[in-house]
Amino acid sequence: MIATETKIETVSYLINGAWETPDGRTLHPVTNPATGAVMAQVPFATASDVDRAVRTAHEAFLKWRDVPVVDRCQVLYRYKALLEKHAGEVAGILTRENGKTLDDSKAEVRRMIQMVEVACGMPSLMMGDSLNDVAHGIDCKTIRQPIGVCAGITPFNFPAMVPMWMHPFAIACGNTFVLKPSEKVPLTPTRAIELLHDAGLPPGVLNLLHGGKEAVDALLHHPLVKAVSFVGSTPVARYIYMTAAAEGKRVQALGGAKNHLVVMADADMPKTVEAIIGSAFGAAGERCLAGSVLVPVGDAAGPLLDLLVKRTKALAVGDGSQQGVEMGPLVTSDHCRKVEGYIEKGVAEGATPLVDGRERKAEGGFFLGPTIFDNVTPEMTIGREEIFGPVLSVMRVGTLEEAIQLVNRSPFGNATAIFTSSGKSAREYSSKCEVGMVGVNVGVAAPMAFFPFAGWKNSFFGDLHAHGKDAISFYTEQKVIMSRWF
Ligand code: NAD
Repeated sequence: MIATETKIETVSYLINGAWETPDGRTLHPVTNPATGAVMAQVPFATASDVDRAVRTAHEAFLKWRDVPVVDRCQVLYRYKALLEKHAGEVAGILTRENGKTLDDSKAEVRRMIQMVEVACGMPSLMMGDSLNDVAHGIDCKTIRQPIGVCAGITPFNFPAMVPMWMHPFAIACGNTFVLKPSEKVPLTPTRAIELLHDAGLPPGVLNLLHGGKEAVDALLHHPLVKAVSFVGSTPVARYIYMTAAAEGKRVQALGGAKNHLVVMADADMPKTVEAIIGSAFGAAGERCLAGSVLVPVGDAAGPLLDLLVKRTKALAVGDGSQQGVEMGPLVTSDHCRKVEGYIEKGVAEGATPLVDGRERKAEGGFFLGPTIFDNVTPEMTIGREEIFGPVLSVMRVGTLEEAIQLVNRSPFGNATAIFTSSGKSAREYSSKCEVGMVGVNVGVAAPMAFFPFAGWKNSFFGDLHAHGKDAISFYTEQKVIMSRWF
């Protein structure tokens, strides 16, 4: 029997500035991964809920686009202040529904606030170019205008930060927004949107819905939705890209990952091991930037694996809300079973377990310890597929050139890192790898809010990346105006 916390709340929608809990919708449980207890239930929006939210957003757009950009940003300044004030509370909700450690949640909330800070610079960011006398008496300028109703569909692993890659930029540009966050972790984005509402955002500028495929499909096919931002797994990202693009919408769809960490023999091993631990097992491996394949080059393998295995066995696994815990549970029992299934496949397909996370399963929550497999090949299931859990596969190679070939054969290209004390190796690897985000002695190469974020190959479908200057291009249309006055 599934345990239930005493007070079960039903998560609300925000449509046209009013919070509502609709009747008669399918309800799905939201669990606390550290205890397995049901803590809330989430209603699944129907196509008609989506239609109402989009129409509301469209009505609001007709007014919001004419609000001066400096005034639009005032709402974001107030939002930032509220987020700062409630940062601890938001981090607590995040740990409770997602399972990541409180330190990780605080870091995520810091990142979400940084997105708002960058979007506050929209008066400068939206500026166009101008040149007088492009011909006799003729001046030319470019302006950026908002595009209309934009939609955001987000994953479970960063419920505070990922929605912020989208809506602060979109609304600062003068668009309106419909957000459909992950149904597994709806409480964090709902609390964040409550604060945005409290900051004085006019009704309809941001609308929040919950749900699954029906809601997403309704957004993808709605004629008033002009742009779709998606972050999630590769199969869904590909589907979103193809469906929304076929409807003539602008799309950015960030997908899954299988990230390689290349370690040269000249790396600083103790520091490298700490970085690998953070990358592979931080947030229980549920990060799109998580290191999932370790590639020791030449003589690196011996000293690296000795240290890494010792450190991994000592990793503190437990309830992320407790002090000293380094790795929390997986998000749901289904996901925990899926990751365990990958470990079983690794053993069955002939990889050598150096650390087996199944030995550290704990009662109650969705716990699995960190796992390291040696002698993994790119053909094995664990060497090929995104696991999205605390499982690190070791693929040994002889030279840096072989490492580059191995990385470039992967169908994914989200993030990677090289650990070395050689500038030459770092430069060669950074230049030749076919990957969107590269760390040099950095295990989680997460670009800050003012830089763009996205991978290559099957990790990204679209042209313009998330946040940074790309966000302004994505959420605006450019216009060129030539003028002559008689
Ligand atoms: P997911 O693809 O299962 O879900 C993402 C969103 O899509 C959710 O809102 C979900 O409700 C919706 N969705 C799920 N199935 C759908 C379907 N068939 N049709 C329409 N909508 C659907 O992803 P997840 O499990 O929530 O998140 C983990 C995945 O996200 C991992 O693959 C991870 O690598 C990826 N991710 C990528 C990035 C990045 O920047 N590339 C960042 C974070 C997470």
